[in-house]
Amino acid sequence: MTDTYELFAIKYARRDGWRSDNFIGGDDDHASAMPLDYYVWVARNAQRSVLIDTGFSAQTAAKRGRGVLRCPIDSLRLIDIDPDSITDTVITHLHYDHVGNFALLQSSRFHLQEPEMHFATGRHMKYPHFGHHYEPEDVAQMVRMNFAQRVVMHDGPAEVAPGIELQPVGGHTPGLQVVRVKTARGWVVVASDASHFYENIEKRRPFSNACDVCQMLEAFDTVYLLADSKEHVIPGHDPQVLERYPAPSKELEGIIARLDVAPQTHAD
Ligand SMILES: [Zn+2]
Repeated sequence: MTDTYELFAIKYARRDGWRSDNFIGGDDDHASAMPLDYYVWVARNAQRSVLIDTGFSAQTAAKRGRGVLRCPIDSLRLIDIDPDSITDTVITHLHYDHVGNFALLQSSRFHLQEPEMHFATGRHMKYPHFGHHYEPEDVAQMVRMNFAQRVVMHDGPAEVAPGIELQPVGGHTPGLQVVRVKTARGWVVVASDASHFYENIEKRRPFSNACDVCQMLEAFDTVYLLADSKEHVIPGHDPQVLERYPAPSKELEGIIARLDVAPQTHAD
């Protein structure tokens, strides 16, 4: 079917962290680790592959002292997707870990919500509280891409292709959008940073990094409305994604998960 997709999460980096890092107000449990995984996602069918976020580059990783496990774009080849075949890439928001690697995507347009571009080029970037999470060179590259007619700037809900829908939700950043993908098991929502972990959305506990907490709480409701069930929500940074969903093959365990099939386990 032309409007139904396979959907994959590709892990390209990880970072240690603590429970208290990941919730506004911290957490009563100060002693437990709660690491983050970094992902890009890709929806594929016989007609097209649509990439969701592009991950940080090796240069950005070095600059920020982050380890990279593998290049997020080259990793597409692990599931037989040629990066040059990607013509549409959704950027959920412009935080450094969700955008970059433009040079590796020569054929793609980039779908972005316009309020995100305004924010990333606007007055709030002078405050490290906001600006620290954006990489100036990535923002500049997106400006250049726009002049090169390679940015599709949306201002509201949009359809990238049949079966791939964008919904702006804000909260974490003003222009954050989530992606609704039609799969054989129904509509799955790639929540990206609308919910970093399952626990953020399930317990309605906002992640520590928010520009509008009211919107972030409402985004949880929106994500659940768009998804066919709670098991159709994919958080942006939760290591559990790779535990709940099967790998496409034995060799790709711990690297890539298939999200278009039912989860094997769930936490509850
Ligand atoms: Zn973010």
